[in-house]
Amino acid sequence: MYRSDAEQLIRKSIARFVDAEIIPNAQEYDNSKEYPKEILKKIADMGVFGIRYPKDRGGCGGNSTLFCIVCEELARGLMGLGATVAMQCLMGTNCLFIYGNEDMHEHYFLPAMKGEKFGCFCMTEPEAGSDMGAVSTRAEKTNDGWTINGMKTWVTSGPIADFYTVMCQTNPAKKIRGLEFFFIPRDTAGVSVSKPFDTLGTVTSKISEVSFTNVRIPDAFCLTRDGQGTGYLFSVLAEIRCMTAALAVGLQRAAMDDAIRYARERQAWGKPIGNYQLIQAKVANMAVNLEASKLMTYNALKMVDRKIECKNEASMAKYFATEAACSAADSCTRIYGAYGYSMEYPAQRHFRDTRFLLNGGGTHEILQTNIAKWVGL
Ligand SMILES: Cc1cc2nc3c(=O)[nH]c(=O)nc-3n(C[C@H](O)[C@H](O)[C@H](O)COP(=O)(O)OP(=O)(O)OC[C@H]3O[C@@H](n4cnc5c(N)ncnc54)[C@H](O)[C@@H]3O)c2cc1C
Repeated sequence: MYRSDAEQLIRKSIARFVDAEIIPNAQEYDNSKEYPKEILKKIADMGVFGIRYPKDRGGCGGNSTLFCIVCEELARGLMGLGATVAMQCLMGTNCLFIYGNEDMHEHYFLPAMKGEKFGCFCMTEPEAGSDMGAVSTRAEKTNDGWTINGMKTWVTSGPIADFYTVMCQTNPAKKIRGLEFFFIPRDTAGVSVSKPFDTLGTVTSKISEVSFTNVRIPDAFCLTRDGQGTGYLFSVLAEIRCMTAALAVGLQRAAMDDAIRYARERQAWGKPIGNYQLIQAKVANMAVNLEASKLMTYNALKMVDRKIECKNEASMAKYFATEAACSAADSCTRIYGAYGYSMEYPAQRHFRDTRFLLNGGGTHEILQTNIAKWVGL
């Protein structure tokens, strides 16, 4: 696959960092379940958080492909880190970048590019996940601004964030067409954040509930208006799906690397298990799925970068790459035999972390439903 000089350069430099600083410590980070503040600071210092934003607005002048190369490489090291960085670079800051005013840029967006502040994206509610029209967090217009009431859940980076991009209902009669996005700083009166959830995978990426009780914000914090919210959501979804697919590519590579290393070392009947054809078949399937995932993901990303409509390509890439990651993690645990069941080896971590990929950007049932519709059913 053709790669531009910029793509090769960014991949090389992030890969070097991942090999030196993340992979040797990944197991320790995962065991500790701590939010990896120091390593995130190093990632921020590499300028990664601004990678997909223009230089004249405080970013690095890259594009979505470069951003997803970073996500892929970080996920190869540790999925939880990939998840936190992806949130910061895309969903946590993008709406603010597009619709925020100068003051918000100065005090929130620019510090976020440097890793001094963190943002996150609040859509899901306890009673509204895939069915976004059921969102009940209410934004009501007042004389001088808006009042927000409601609760969001499954907010990635919720516990560490300094500001929230919150999807609210402004007109319940309009259902999904009444949704708009609001900017809410964490220190606003009425905002409260739960303890981090105890999760199956990506344990270093912190997730929580965030609730809003009579939160009063100025009118300028209403980021989208007059139906722009739904349009914004659909426009950013393709990139979110590509990003998830890139994270899945990273996880496939990690699972395959670990499986090959183990298959070379582990002996049975006097030979490395990698000499047996049934083990080779598993690794070959991992390699084929990985290649197909990369092609689909980076093809969709080229379309995102050229602003070509690609909801179907992005959905297919997310669906395929994530299913392939689940399959690769499963094969990896089998190649490890009993040690695939041990918390001391990486196979179990890959297996748990694949679950992170299944929901964000649309569950596979929703993606399959949409893909079938888009191809004509
Ligand atoms: C690790 C993690 C991080 C997340 N981070 C964020 C975040 O930062 N911000 C945020 O807003 N949300 C976040 N989410 C939430 C995520 O977006 C939702 O989980 C997702 O939208 C699905 O919603 P739900 O979990 O409520 O499932 P539901 O919508 O309740 O679905 C439950 C099951 O029913 C199936 N289903 C639903 N409708 C249909 C249908 N019409 N046809 C067939 N099957 C159907 C689904 O596919 C699923 O299998 C995160 C979730 C996870 C697990």
